[in-house]
Amino acid sequence: MLVRLEAVVQFIYSRVNKLAEDSVFVGDIYEGTRDGKIRAYECTECNHQGVAVQAFCDKCGNNKLTIKEIGNIGKVITYTIQTVAPDPFVNEVPYAWVIVELDNNVRITGWIPFVSSREDLKIGDRVKLVKSYKPGMVFEKIT
Ligand SMILES: [Zn+2]
Repeated sequence: MLVRLEAVVQFIYSRVNKLAEDSVFVGDIYEGTRDGKIRAYECTECNHQGVAVQAFCDKCGNNKLTIKEIGNIGKVITYTIQTVAPDPFVNEVPYAWVIVELDNNVRITGWIPFVSSREDLKIGDRVKLVKSYKPGMVFEKIT
């Protein structure tokens, strides 16, 4: 029994290491946001792109993913206004927590400081990721 357990542990360990080598890490994707850049994974099989941290492609299950810089401009799909904020956002309230569809159709969540009503932000407004030291992806309206 002990030998079998050891074999199982070794299998899991090797599998996890293999995943770690092949997967897209948080840092790879979110590092770029400090410079106003968006990095996405791209599947080597089907070219599907996404910005969530992934071990496998959402679409085809392939675990060979590469990192690619994608455009940082898109439109607001939906949002909610936050008036009570956790510490990192307390100087930007109220803010909008937004879902943005980038021009290449990748959807991403982020936030826009100082949005207090529906007059400040419309569904479909064009937005761009900006450089920020704040957590998350900070967007601003563009005209
Ligand atoms: Zn794929």
